[in-house]
Amino acid sequence: MTETAKQINLFDLNRDDLVAWFASIGEPRFRAEQLMKWIYHEGVTDFDVMTNLSKSLRAKLTELASCSVPKTLSHQSSTDGTKKWLVELETGNCIETVFIPEEDRGTLCISSQVGCILDCSFCATGKQGFNRNLTTAEIVSQVWIAHHALGGGKSGERRLTNIVFMGMGEPLYNFKNVMKAIDVLLDDLGFGLSKRRVTLSTSGVVPNLYDMAEQKDVALAVSLHAPNDPLRDVLVPLNQRYPIADLMEACRYYLQKQGARFRVTWEYVMIDDVNDSPELARELGRLLKSIPSKINLIPFNPFPGSNYQTSSKDKIDLFRDILIREFGIMTVTRKTRGDDIAAACGQLAGQVQDKVNRTIYNVAS
Ligand code: SAH
Ligand code: SF4
Repeated sequence: MTETAKQINLFDLNRDDLVAWFASIGEPRFRAEQLMKWIYHEGVTDFDVMTNLSKSLRAKLTELASCSVPKTLSHQSSTDGTKKWLVELETGNCIETVFIPEEDRGTLCISSQVGCILDCSFCATGKQGFNRNLTTAEIVSQVWIAHHALGGGKSGERRLTNIVFMGMGEPLYNFKNVMKAIDVLLDDLGFGLSKRRVTLSTSGVVPNLYDMAEQKDVALAVSLHAPNDPLRDVLVPLNQRYPIADLMEACRYYLQKQGARFRVTWEYVMIDDVNDSPELARELGRLLKSIPSKINLIPFNPFPGSNYQTSSKDKIDLFRDILIREFGIMTVTRKTRGDDIAAACGQLAGQVQDKVNRTIYNVAS
């Protein structure tokens, strides 16, 4: 079905929006619920197949609405089981979505923007530039595509158990659409994921972190990468605007809102001779000791054009051991997955067309 200007894409709506929209066309609440079951549980986007809706309602929906999912251009599988989908958006840009199966879980890494407005010095997405925010429908569609490609749990076994906003883009800079997409991920009539299994990863957009604390209680990952401002200013330029002390305060607030049981996952990319010394491990330990934390050490994934090297295994092991033994902070080294299909952290570049000049956001000023 081709979408006309008047049609609304129902993937853009969370349950409340959908109920309101059905009310606006004179339909009761349970119609919205039936529709969500078709879309998210059954994987059906064709109104004609939704047989528990009357013929006249189906005709009305066909006229006024669509359930439009972007086209999957390609689908690759890595030797380690990782899968990557290249999804073409209507504007001709492409985004990538990655599924990482592990023994006890299946994690989908989704994108929130086409490219990224920020320019972290070690990130391929950042180097691609920025085009635009994804719509709620485009965010939700990534999950829909993967969920149903993976069997949609119909066999009784759920392969997609966790979602992480760790693909392209800074999710807190696409706040409204990401929050709405999270509603659908958590909704029983949507993907029904538990809050602990949805993780938003941010480079530290402090004001928006406070806003999220008021609205959502999904798991929080923060891309720290350095324990002090001079080094973080270089690796994560956003730090020049929101320094570490402010970021820590916002994280504490977020945890406090969530309740005592939760902790922040700190991501720390290990770059040879840049941020991987034992002294920096100790500085990191001192910084994080006082806040409930888990640290993920991510070996730097090289990409064409980057001058950084990955830290050696010995250096990563020493860094990890210092954090565990001297500070008692749970620290794990993340396995590199899917690097043969360029699906590892920071290798997602998609295809960003019509880049917007970053200075309009001027994040460092
Ligand atoms: N913009 C958000 C989420 C997307 S990036 C953020 O920065 O948190 C997801 C994770 O991949 C971040 O922790 C990021 O620092 C990490 N990453 C980016 N480039 C990388 C690279 N080349 N090697 C390893 N990890 C990288
Ligand atoms: Fe953007 Fe995250 Fe990459 Fe930084 S690490 S450029 S915030 S996607």
